[in-house]
Amino acid sequence: MRCFLSICLWISLSFLPTNTLNRSNDTYVYICTGKYAYSYHKSKKCRGLNKCSASIKKVTFKQAKSEKRIACKICYRSS
Ligand SMILES: [Zn+2]
Repeated sequence: MRCFLSICLWISLSFLPTNTLNRSNDTYVYICTGKYAYSYHKSKKCRGLNKCSASIKKVTFKQAKSEKRIACKICYRSS
């Protein structure tokens, strides 16, 4: 019984983060394809993207997250 409970716990723990992120899956963000770019942006006109030396790409929030990108401090400052 204890074994069964730990399996349940393991399953819910491995699925929980995905479920919380699902809500934002259809949201699009902008990323710079440059080698040293590490963040994603809410707006294409963001100041942070002006510095981008490569091209700006529109991707889903999920895609940006899977590339281990972090939210831009300029665009996401207020939210
Ligand atoms: Zn930004």
